[in-house]
Amino acid sequence: MNNFEFKNPTKIIFGKDSIAKLENEIPKDAKVLMLYGGGSIKKNGIYDQVKKALANFTVIEFGGIPANPEYSVLTEALEVIKTENITYLLAVGGGSVIDGTKFLSAAALYEGQSSWDILANKIRTDVGLPFGTVLTLPATGSEMNSGAVITRKETQEKLGMGGPGLFPQFSILDPQVITSIPERQLANGLTDAFTHVLEQYMTYPDGALLQDRFAESIMQTLIEVAPRIIKDPTDYKAASNFMWSCTMALNGLIQKGVPTDWAIHAIGHELTALFGIDHARTLAVITPSHYKYNFEAKKEKLAQYAERVWNITEGSTDDKAYAAIEKTVAFFHELGIDTKLSDYTKDYEGTAETIAQRFTDRGWLGLGEHKDVSPDKVAEIVKMAY
Ligand code: NAP
Ligand code: FE
Repeated sequence: MNNFEFKNPTKIIFGKDSIAKLENEIPKDAKVLMLYGGGSIKKNGIYDQVKKALANFTVIEFGGIPANPEYSVLTEALEVIKTENITYLLAVGGGSVIDGTKFLSAAALYEGQSSWDILANKIRTDVGLPFGTVLTLPATGSEMNSGAVITRKETQEKLGMGGPGLFPQFSILDPQVITSIPERQLANGLTDAFTHVLEQYMTYPDGALLQDRFAESIMQTLIEVAPRIIKDPTDYKAASNFMWSCTMALNGLIQKGVPTDWAIHAIGHELTALFGIDHARTLAVITPSHYKYNFEAKKEKLAQYAERVWNITEGSTDDKAYAAIEKTVAFFHELGIDTKLSDYTKDYEGTAETIAQRFTDRGWLGLGEHKDVSPDKVAEIVKMAY
């Protein structure tokens, strides 16, 4: 096991009717900016629950943060924070609203020329404006981590940011919010969380026994609850296990002391930036070809995954490893998620070269746990996913 340090300061408030507890978490004298997305919270009752809990606070609202939080919209919110002297941010939404809020937390205290520099120059945020979240969509884990991904349509970019100052102070997780999520987003959430675990698990076996079993148990739980959630989002037992699994998949715990990959996400972000494909679906497109292309480096761990997660016990290491990739693809398909780029766009020719060139220009010359997935290899992986 590698050396590590672990600190996750986010307070989780989990369970039925927990949104009412919001008022205990925000300083009484705060001037709050409540941030949300396209309006789903106004239809499903979450908006009313939040407003009720905040009845005794000074609250200004900023709605309209789109899926794949857009820089130009966020700069409008930044203006509000500055002109209204906002002291506390509250994200009410899924990963997009939470990530957008993290950007604002960083940008509000950033003293440089342009807030885009935080993304373009990978500026780490050590102190941000304090914020909390009410999670409405289990998927990203953003509610308990310090990372964010921001999109800029103008330049077709989607870049990551983060830092220890960007953990939410608290996150409220009421699994009842799941009842109003459309099937497409439920499938996305299951796929995103599952791939988060894969990115931190599918590296060479290095004897981190507990982290491996944490990761395997999260994947097993997601596989178990997936059909139940899709069939009936009001199944509270399934919903609560789904929600907590998504948070645990990316709150830092399972990546401690182990090598992590993240090439699937790096490539996937480009597919969202170029074609607007849902984040989770880009991961389902890249995962199989990434594992097939890097088969030799990953086959032992793929075989362990085959045995422990999919109960595949017959055959050689290679046989089991291949079967595990096929099982993963079948899992995505059962969720209604397509796994080829050509399923999403007819304009896929040239995508491999475009992404390889972008990575070269940014100096991203070696992705993956061995830092050996060069732009040329990225191009091959993307071509295999056409
Ligand atoms: P999302 O983009 O936040 O939301 C997707 C859609 O679901 C929106 O249309 C939203 O509507 C709707 N929705 C949310 N909650 C709902 C509810 N309870 N009922 C009905 N509809 C609801 O989806 P996401 O998958 O959570 O976030 C994706 C973003 O997170 C991507 O940009 C991705 O790159 C990023 N991400 C971040 C991390 C991280 O660690 N920070 C990790 C992985 C991915 P409204 O617009 O009306 O809210
Ligand atoms: Fe993700």
